[in-house]
Amino acid sequence: MTEHSFTMTINGQAVAGSETFGVENPATGTVFAQAPDCTKDELDSAVAAARAALPAWKATPIEKRRELLNAMAGILMQNLPELSRLLTREQGKPHSDAEGDVGGGAFWLMESSRHDIPVHVSEDSSERHAITRYGPIGVVAAIVPWNFPIILAAFKLGPALLAGNTIVLKPAPTTPLTTLRIGELLRGVLPDGVLNVISGSDRLGPWLSAHEGVDKVSFTGSTQTGRKVMENAAHSLKRVTLELGGNDPAIVMPDVDVKKVAEDLFWAAFRNAGQICIATKRMYIHKDVYEPLKAAIVEYAGTVKIGDGAEQGTQIGPIQNSAQYRRVLELIQDARDNGYKFLIGGEPSDQPGYFVPITILDNPPESARIVQEEQFGPVLPLLRFDDLEEVIGRANDSEYGLGASIWSSDIDRAQEIATRLQAGTVWINESQHLSPHAAFGGFKQSGIGVEGGPDGVLEFCQAQTVFTRKPATV
Ligand code: NAD
Repeated sequence: MTEHSFTMTINGQAVAGSETFGVENPATGTVFAQAPDCTKDELDSAVAAARAALPAWKATPIEKRRELLNAMAGILMQNLPELSRLLTREQGKPHSDAEGDVGGGAFWLMESSRHDIPVHVSEDSSERHAITRYGPIGVVAAIVPWNFPIILAAFKLGPALLAGNTIVLKPAPTTPLTTLRIGELLRGVLPDGVLNVISGSDRLGPWLSAHEGVDKVSFTGSTQTGRKVMENAAHSLKRVTLELGGNDPAIVMPDVDVKKVAEDLFWAAFRNAGQICIATKRMYIHKDVYEPLKAAIVEYAGTVKIGDGAEQGTQIGPIQNSAQYRRVLELIQDARDNGYKFLIGGEPSDQPGYFVPITILDNPPESARIVQEEQFGPVLPLLRFDDLEEVIGRANDSEYGLGASIWSSDIDRAQEIATRLQAGTVWINESQHLSPHAAFGGFKQSGIGVEGGPDGVLEFCQAQTVFTRKPATV
């Protein structure tokens, strides 16, 4: 696929772009392909194409839109080997995880097609009939980060297209290729202009979120960028859905079976090299099980294979890009400078590419940067707690509120703890499970709005209420 000239898809046509930028393989740190660097004019034509396609797409019967979502899913699945190999190459994740990202995207498109667009009758009296119905908002800018390029795009495409919106989709600058390739494969499946796929360097995101032809921005990325998206959207009061950062706590109660949970807890934090918005980023362990669980997690960590995602047996790949790599190393350095105790890892790797070893810290203070900030990398603080009230306070003491997990054999008590956690999703004895049929969103600065479930579809809809006065019957 490296010889392939990746093109944007604008109005159903290939657009090579008048400028390009290089895309690196994070396992080697070398550029292996070029992607179009969308110019302002090319962006204008993508937005104009989405606008022009809107009336016909909006008028297309929902059954047809459902059918096309399933056709899109089918194309992703037919091309799964090619797409997942390409995704590993640009993103770094192990091949099986890349298959999960692409296959998960197909699943999301399929399942999104099963949602209904509701019509609510709020009054049907002798005097009046009142309904609220939901139509599309218009042109949606779908902006995606680099950690799960395909499934996070599908979170947006499925419900937005189902509801009759048209789209300009923009992947992150460091992972544009698989998304561009999907745009190429989908040409001719959807009517021209319904789904436009563009790629660009850092300049493109701000242009897109400020573009006056965009009606709604559906954004997944960091809290810091989310604030900028909101500022840009404010000028024309664009609708926004913001899926932002997190600093998810796990609370491990004293009644867990240490041997059983150690591996699950490890992967809650380290899957995708920790680059998951809903990864466990602070692990609070009750004092009664702290020592044995710490030992079990560290022992398991020692068995996990880090390497190039394209190599057989790799379980954790590199950090996806150089900026994030430097940030994770900075947090490790801060822990070292402050004398925190490392249980494993902490030494930068000398191999090429952006590899960070699995790094686990032993009970650093709550004020440590690695506890307070979102690390988004394979570095985890284990934190000891004595008392439930105390740990609930520590878990909630964050500007974020994306996810949280509770690990306990007392389900009733765990469910009661869940009601007290300020997090959009709480898992009990598992982590990171999401469903196209359940709302996913953040409390506090982890976001605005939700994706998934009926509520996620309504995020792409404009409500219209019609009151009809009935004629007098006598
Ligand atoms: P980022 O915010 O740097 O970039 C995300 C996307 O926004 C990229 O496509 C980027 O090009 C674009 N962008 C940059 N500036 C923009 C602007 N002014 N207007 C519009 N778009 C702009 O995030 P990232 O580093 O790619 O991703 C990591 C972050 O994403 C983490 O904080 C993670 O927690 C978060 N995330 C959240 C979710 C969720 O669902 N809540 C899921 C995955 C990742």
